[in-house]
Amino acid sequence: MAIKITEDCINCGACEPECPTEAITDGDEIYVINPQACTECVGFFSEIACQAVCPVECCLPDPDKVETEEVLINRALSLRPDDTDLRQKAAANNYPSHYRK
Ligand code: SF4
Repeated sequence: MAIKITEDCINCGACEPECPTEAITDGDEIYVINPQACTECVGFFSEIACQAVCPVECCLPDPDKVETEEVLINRALSLRPDDTDLRQKAAANNYPSHYRK
């Protein structure tokens, strides 16, 4: 499930630098997340980074884009093909994920 930024966004910009896959950009009206680049931080952090910093709690799971942890870790690997640390953690099935808290 990709994370989505809702219309409550106040354009503070806090989330953009926190995203490990650079999925967040400053959109026309509010910040937006590219769902094709969002892994819900699976593979990188044990919490959802944008959610953790957003002052108005508007980074929320998108119910229209439900995905499994397996899909998300595979997306992380495809987005970061040269990340050997991530590859090793994925191979060992020992990677950070908010599903595993
Ligand atoms: Fe918008 Fe929240 Fe990102 Fe700030 S942290 S730009 S309020 S989504």
